[in-house]
Amino acid sequence: MQHIQDIFSLLEHPKKVVITTHQKPDGDAMGSSLGLYHFLIQFGHQVQVISPTNWASFLSWMPGCATVLDYESETSRCDKMIADADWIFCLDFNTLVRTKKMEQALAASGAERILIDHHQQPQSEMFAYGVSDTTKSSTAEMVYDFIVGSGFQNKLNDDIAQCLYAGVMTDTGSFRFPSTSAAVHTMVADLLARGLKQSVIHQHLFDNFSESRLRFIGNVLSNRMQVFYEYNTALISIPQQDLVKYEIKTGDTEGLVNYPLSIEGIKLAAIIIDRGEERKCSFRSKGDFDVNTFARSYFDGGGHYNAAGGQSKEPLEAVVAKFMMAIKENKDKLSTYQF
Ligand code: 5GP
Ligand code: MN
Repeated sequence: MQHIQDIFSLLEHPKKVVITTHQKPDGDAMGSSLGLYHFLIQFGHQVQVISPTNWASFLSWMPGCATVLDYESETSRCDKMIADADWIFCLDFNTLVRTKKMEQALAASGAERILIDHHQQPQSEMFAYGVSDTTKSSTAEMVYDFIVGSGFQNKLNDDIAQCLYAGVMTDTGSFRFPSTSAAVHTMVADLLARGLKQSVIHQHLFDNFSESRLRFIGNVLSNRMQVFYEYNTALISIPQQDLVKYEIKTGDTEGLVNYPLSIEGIKLAAIIIDRGEERKCSFRSKGDFDVNTFARSYFDGGGHYNAAGGQSKEPLEAVVAKFMMAIKENKDKLSTYQF
């Protein structure tokens, strides 16, 4: 993988570009992809953002979101664009399997794949160019660095600013995670100085849900959460019937895993959701418990040191049993807790 700066001199030569990200894109995945989109179109490139799956409706306000294609609902159109592309930017993921059904088309394309990502253990041999930096708060921050590094920061417009702000805010938990470096605040200061209205973005992302989702959260916290103080661990497990009863849609469960982490002394929080086709897991930790390794070891997943995810094809009860076994095996690491 050559360094991403090697494409700076090629930016002014119009190309067919596809930008893609991980399945079920979150604020950082969609924000970084659309931020890059609004930058590249200014050079006359033909740019298409393709999401491997659908996404949460609370992301749809983002400028340009209406032009994004959902691979699962427009597969043949997307396959043609992927096959014909000169460049495919891969943002906020680093192994092609994270794009689910799109994986084959991405691997088969003759395009140069370009990585911009902050997760651990990239599949570097799959990318012609790229930057992989696990110290970065978000892929949105890396797109900002890319724009500034290219020398074209004069092209940083309000559309880009809105998308990148949404991304960095999502992945830093509204600027509170340890990854929120001075560079993150410098970037945000620059976006604000360019006229960004940040409070509108907070409203779009946090004050835009259905009544039913709030009642669902009430049910989850009352009836679906277990706390294991012996292991400084809390687990939420959600059966599919709850998703049906409360009409839960893509994105409605995002952030739920953070509630148990707010309990004093809890070091590991987990959520396991029965989505029908698979059981999806999310893990969050405080302090020195590495959930990336935990997710990789037991749940075919990965992510970051304090935030990771995985999945399983086993029934919900079996996944919960596996989780209980896993925390027992990690008791030594979990039972010590220092603030
Ligand atoms: P979330 O729990 O919000 O879905 O994801 C937390 C972090 O773990 C994100 O950075 C996400 O990209 C990563 N992640 C989530 N699920 C998986 C998975 O199944 N495999 C891998 N490798 N990473 C995941
Ligand atoms: Mn991210």
